[in-house]
Amino acid sequence: MPNAVQQRIDAVRQRIRAAEERFHRPVGSVRLVAVSKQQNAAAIRAAVTAGITDVAENYVQEALKKQAQLADLPIVWHFIGRIQSNKTGVLAQHFDWIHSLDRLKLATRLARQRPPGRGALQICIQVNVDNEPAKGGVSLESLENLALQLAELPRLRLRGLMTVPRPALDFQAQRAAFAALRRARDSLNDQHGLELDTLSMGMSADLEAAVAEGATLVRIGTAVFGPREPAPEREPLSD
Ligand SMILES: *Cc1c(COP(=O)(O)O)cnc(C)c1O
Repeated sequence: MPNAVQQRIDAVRQRIRAAEERFHRPVGSVRLVAVSKQQNAAAIRAAVTAGITDVAENYVQEALKKQAQLADLPIVWHFIGRIQSNKTGVLAQHFDWIHSLDRLKLATRLARQRPPGRGALQICIQVNVDNEPAKGGVSLESLENLALQLAELPRLRLRGLMTVPRPALDFQAQRAAFAALRRARDSLNDQHGLELDTLSMGMSADLEAAVAEGATLVRIGTAVFGPREPAPEREPLSD
């Protein structure tokens, strides 16, 4: 009998595979990143045993604790939360990917603080496609400027764009937000010669729409781990 985590991961992989086929994407072109906020280290260990290679966290202190407990595993660590400027040093040291970059100031700090012994830090710019005031991410209008400046920085490799659209139940509405991100990526590549190969979009409730619009990486929490624990105390937001 496979365990619950294994069953959920298999089900997510089947959803991804079915969407790849339905929307004429090459099979295997969508990378599954497991979002483990508010899940403990044991849950992540079980997911890795079930085949997960990439894990994403939203909060720095919470992530560092789990990383220390899982140091024996070859996990690719992604950061997908709000970036505070006093945490860029830790992020530059302890993560492989940052999906939530939205300010040049943070990028220059990360570039300066990435340890020389490690490869380039993989970067996605977060885009606020619906212009929601409380949400992180750069507007579509400001994206071009930020992307061009960021692409020049050493020690960072700009891989693509990330978004968390406003939740929508309607499949076409879900697709429309993801299509906006895809067009923004295509235009950066076509008009400025960038080579952005990553669209980080799609969560448990909308991964099919994201795959339909070209997601190369989906960030899946509840569908992999089950419901989250109540939120622990957060580090205060200082900027
Ligand atoms: C929590 C979170 C996810 C995963 O959400 P689920 O709905 O649990 O799959 C993905 N991306 C970001 C940025 C998140 O904060």
